[in-house]
Amino acid sequence: MTVHVFPVRIAGSTFSADEQVATNPLWVKQLAFGHRKEVTYCLCDREELIPLVIRHYSTGRGLAHYGLARWKGTNWEHHAECRFFSEHFEDGRSSRVSAAFRELENGCVRVHLSRPLGLSADASSARSSTEVGAVKRARAQTRGKASDSALFNRVWRVANLNMYRGKDCTWFNGSLRFLHAASKFVVRKSGESLADFLLVGAPSHSRNAQAHNGAVLERGARHPSRLYLLARLKAPTQAQLAKETFLLPLQDFAALPKVLIKKAQLDRFLDTRAFARASLSNPDANVICLFCIEPGSNGWWHCVDVAALVASNSLIPVESSYELEMERYLIRQSRIFVKPLHGEENETTGKRRPDFLLLATKPRTAVEVWGMSTSEYLDSKAARINWYHETRIPLVSWNAVASEHLPVLPPPRP
Ligand SMILES: [Zn+2]
Repeated sequence: MTVHVFPVRIAGSTFSADEQVATNPLWVKQLAFGHRKEVTYCLCDREELIPLVIRHYSTGRGLAHYGLARWKGTNWEHHAECRFFSEHFEDGRSSRVSAAFRELENGCVRVHLSRPLGLSADASSARSSTEVGAVKRARAQTRGKASDSALFNRVWRVANLNMYRGKDCTWFNGSLRFLHAASKFVVRKSGESLADFLLVGAPSHSRNAQAHNGAVLERGARHPSRLYLLARLKAPTQAQLAKETFLLPLQDFAALPKVLIKKAQLDRFLDTRAFARASLSNPDANVICLFCIEPGSNGWWHCVDVAALVASNSLIPVESSYELEMERYLIRQSRIFVKPLHGEENETTGKRRPDFLLLATKPRTAVEVWGMSTSEYLDSKAARINWYHETRIPLVSWNAVASEHLPVLPPPRP
């Protein structure tokens, strides 16, 4: 992962990354001094000081410490590799959301999954006390839960796979980056990470991925549970479609167990995702899935659920064929950009998520691809253009339906 700690300045004193540690008394003293004063800045940008907030955390045992946080609304202003950068204009402030994913101090994220990894059989035997069950249920209702799709997007983002920095990312590298990011997501109280439950459909020459899959399956044989499988879906063959259940059609299947999917299940999934269905036969696109699977008999596995995203051959997610065209264009123009992904279920900032965000322009520029002309769509388009105007965010947009030429982009920042 390429998240950097940039120098920070507090009340005129600059601290390098190495100096921003709790064991450095000068740093701790300066944090305490700068708390509640507007004197703290991130130095990730060459030209501007970006304000930061100093937060005061109490551990409840009379101990307290300070930490740095992003100043509200400065998300895009940070360097793309700065730990305070976010492609979201507003932070997801809803408590539901922060509860499903909670950032831990060691840089990991605790995630509460909406579907337990335990198999249904051992879930019922584990609940020995009804009282404990009731407490758990009450807690579960107030706690946000991450769906597979929210989890998928979030890990994709943490792996920086939605950012294009002048170099194509191959599936070989991308799948390993995803795996590495997955190791930062703690999915169980016992501290196990998503990577411990994640199989990767990697090319046959990917020794690391295969060794990893071997370890996951070995562990799974000792403690049976559901697993996740990250892989590129392939169009099923006619022969497969003639059957009710068939082998999951994947691009890469070395070192993976045999996983079955029901035809009805795959149909139900693709019927609501016309773009994903069309992308299965597009050589410029990849339908990348996070399958939840569970063990059956004789070493066969069954698909429980599917979350998916469509990505270009540079692994940048796209949501329509027009976006794919825009993505190709941005790459041909040698632009550095990010494809913002939603990471929550009921996202409140969805309206403010541009289709793409150009990073190396000053100020950063939003890119919108207008692909429809229904009256509802046109209303929301007008509202969005208005919002960009009000917030003074430069906007480059393309009317794909009107077959306009691709837009001229603002000059890149030198
Ligand atoms: Zn920064």
